[in-house]
Amino acid sequence: MNTNSYALTNIGELVTMAAADKAKTWDESSLALLHDAAVIVESGRVSWVGSMRQYRSLSVKAKEIDVKGRLVTPGFVDCHNHALFSGSREDELDRKLKGESYISILQSGGGIRRTIKETRESSESQLYKQTVTRIEHLIRNGVTTMELKTGYGQDIASEIKLLKVAYEIAKKSSIEIIPTFLGLHATPPEYESSSDYLSFVVKNMLPAIMQSEYKPVFADCFCESGIFNYDQCKSYLAACRGYGLRLKVHADEFSDSNGALLAAEMKCVSADHLEYSSYEGLKEMARNDVVAVLLPATAFYSNIKPPDLSKIQAAGCMVALGTDISPNSWVESPQFVIALACNMMRMTPAMALASFTVGSAKALGRNDIGRIMPDCKADMIVWDFTNYREIAYKIGGSYVSSVFKSGEKIYEDRNSVSFSNLVK
Ligand SMILES: [Zn+2]
Repeated sequence: MNTNSYALTNIGELVTMAAADKAKTWDESSLALLHDAAVIVESGRVSWVGSMRQYRSLSVKAKEIDVKGRLVTPGFVDCHNHALFSGSREDELDRKLKGESYISILQSGGGIRRTIKETRESSESQLYKQTVTRIEHLIRNGVTTMELKTGYGQDIASEIKLLKVAYEIAKKSSIEIIPTFLGLHATPPEYESSSDYLSFVVKNMLPAIMQSEYKPVFADCFCESGIFNYDQCKSYLAACRGYGLRLKVHADEFSDSNGALLAAEMKCVSADHLEYSSYEGLKEMARNDVVAVLLPATAFYSNIKPPDLSKIQAAGCMVALGTDISPNSWVESPQFVIALACNMMRMTPAMALASFTVGSAKALGRNDIGRIMPDCKADMIVWDFTNYREIAYKIGGSYVSSVFKSGEKIYEDRNSVSFSNLVK
């Protein structure tokens, strides 16, 4: 056993997700829970998982980290993340509360158009600083791998600037950052029409990005009536695929725009949102192994109906959850998203936890994260809980005790609260 090895011992409940590959709809059996368990980590990966009794009988002993009966789960994988932007739009909450829609705020120059303006005007170091602060909050809440989308530049220099910042953060960060080029997010004001902008993206922006040092892994687009239609998204995705990018779609968030069908036809890795997708589209997604990424926090913020989980499950789709952190829905807590998934979409706590780990790993095309099993990356959350249901149930406190990424402890909550001023 090498010097980088250690064992997490006295785990009260260990969520391994070892049985999650057997089905697309998860229940408690999929979590493959172990009680009174231990995990051995070697060189950043899990090398052994078992009971404390088995652990004690092993001849090789490692350095021990005693978690004193706590719950341990895989680290969260945030597969839909727009944390890379400048500014903040908290003032728009008042407009939304008066009944103004997302689309109406957008058309008046607010919303994403305002963020694009502020992001274009920001320096790389300003963008870096603001984004890192958001990522630190995500890490404190247990995120160990995340996607990071561009999309608030929408011109060549600004989109490359965003990818460069994503690369800088990925290089220095303690977690994994997977960059996505979101070329079709919103038509910037200098274009007469979405078609003009699309042809600029395909002919100029995409080649420039793929010639730069900062190539993305995924390409994504916003397929929505009034934003970019099915045909526009299809030609964009085809062009991106031609450069070897893997594909994602923002699909059918506000209306059925054939986004689910498009994702299936283009064999996207995931289609995200899906509030208004047709059953036929969802069936096609399932047939083509497109993961259904559900983002209940966005439905909550935009005051729209959440995705229809029973329809999505009946169609046979694998489900994932993500934060969708953006200036529209500033959510830095997977635990909050899980609570929304359970209470707004009737997802069970077991299904929600699997969706934010194994499911979201699949939505990034990954099998080596999102579970605590031999050969997987040792990405783990130690909770101040004793069982997994508490994750969906006790919201708003600070329950993450420590976070491990590839075996390294990257966060520990050391701050105890003093009651000395209260208890007099
Ligand atoms: Zn999004």
